[in-house]
Amino acid sequence: MTGYGSVEVIAIDGPSATGKSTVSRAVARALGWRYLDTGAMYRAATWAVLRAGVPAGDAADVVRRTALVVGTDPEADAVTVDGTPVTAAIRSPEVTAAVSAVSAVPAVRQLLVAQQRGLIGEGRIVVEGRDIGSVVVPEARLKVFLTAAPEVRAARRARETEAEPRLVADALARRDAFDSGRDVSPLRAAQHAVVVDSSKLTQAEVVEHILQLARLVLS
Ligand code: C5P
Repeated sequence: MTGYGSVEVIAIDGPSATGKSTVSRAVARALGWRYLDTGAMYRAATWAVLRAGVPAGDAADVVRRTALVVGTDPEADAVTVDGTPVTAAIRSPEVTAAVSAVSAVPAVRQLLVAQQRGLIGEGRIVVEGRDIGSVVVPEARLKVFLTAAPEVRAARRARETEAEPRLVADALARRDAFDSGRDVSPLRAAQHAVVVDSSKLTQAEVVEHILQLARLVLS
């Protein structure tokens, strides 16, 4: 069956503002599994790079000597950098503007992918990101590529941030282009991923759909 692999991992990839985090967390809760937000790891790395005041090209040196901790409890949202809580700070416009450049550095990806594989361990975890099904755990039991029409994503993000929809749409398009066009681990649906278009679905419907797929492949 499509998306069937050997490890008890559900990989949920896709562009920003598709409701990926809310959906992934809800799926983990429903299954009683852990949850890993790999975007939070790239954001925490970017926060550390901005704090160090170095260009993206030197990001790997910073990441190598920094303790980035992202919790895997779906009920909590705990991110620390060298012991400092940064859960809110990593969502700032400054971090959002810089994260694509930092996450395009191959050595940064190598370090974070190794850390992600360590956290995934034996599995029973929902992992969300851009390259989870394609690079981090290609053997995941279920791979979902969650997408939505650009205007739906822009409207969703504009509602969340109370920003001007046109500016939000431009910023999303820029980040998508950067994430999809980079040489290392570009954003794209993994082989055998089930593509779920959430444009016309509520978040509850998306969660139910993914849980149905999970029941099929886990049984
Ligand atoms: O998911 P989120 O929007 O928080 O991710 C922030 C950024 O981190 C993305 O725009 C992308 O550049 C990077 N990212 C990545 N690979 C992942 C997760 C996130 O490159 N697995």
